Amino acid sequence: MKPRIGLTPTSAVVDDRPVEQLNRAYVEAVTRAGGLPFILPTLDPSDAELALLSLDGLLLTGGGDVEPGCYGAAPAAEVYGVEPDRDAYEIALVKAAARTGVPVLGICRGVQLLNVALGGTLVQHLPEITEAPHYVRDRGGEAVHPVEIAPGSLLAAVTGLEVLGVNSLHHQAVDGLGAGLSVVAYAPDGVGEAIEGTGDGHVGGARLLGVQWHPELLPGSAAHEALFAWLVTESAAGQPVCAPVADAVA
Ligand code: MN
Repeated sequence: MKPRIGLTPTSAVVDDRPVEQLNRAYVEAVTRAGGLPFILPTLDPSDAELALLSLDGLLLTGGGDVEPGCYGAAPAAEVYGVEPDRDAYEIALVKAAARTGVPVLGICRGVQLLNVALGGTLVQHLPEITEAPHYVRDRGGEAVHPVEIAPGSLLAAVTGLEVLGVNSLHHQAVDGLGAGLSVVAYAPDGVGEAIEGTGDGHVGGARLLGVQWHPELLPGSAAHEALFAWLVTESAAGQPVCAPVADAVA
């Protein structure tokens, strides 16, 4: 059976009506990798765990900035596209995944949300700390800078590479790390470009990986497709047993 992968959409208003939007590129990337995608509308956070337990894996997609209040900061002037309801629901999804072991892949906003959900913080506007271009919207389909991947990391195992060319459509990045996470890829200017759970991507019983670039916009590249293959393979493996073994045996 194909693993069921939940994808988080962006909210928008079309013809005066609120809608949930999802770039088809995510759907196609998950489908190519062998997963069965489902769109997860933003709901009350209290429904996150039930929604997650109906799935085998979670893909946090791109979008606007995470509300800085989520990590205890006042918003910089450049913060845009904030969706507080989406933040709250996605944070609840990540916490539920960390409890239940459902694997998570975060992309762009998704890596930032993943970090914040586990207590991390963000750089609110990269031009404040680097002159390197990271917001190159018109070249989303091509590599605009390399990242150096930490040897021995899950990301290195998944991509099979030490250096990977990536697109770059972000003006924020991971800053202080959330609990149990480590940075496993850096841009040449030192900006963190990927995080994962310490110890083969695991945090507790969960399997967590996030990248700052957009692999869904780079179809046909084996290393980028491999990220979706990782999510689908981990999802197909089922949920690890997080309960104490002694209790289960007794
Ligand atoms: Mn970048």
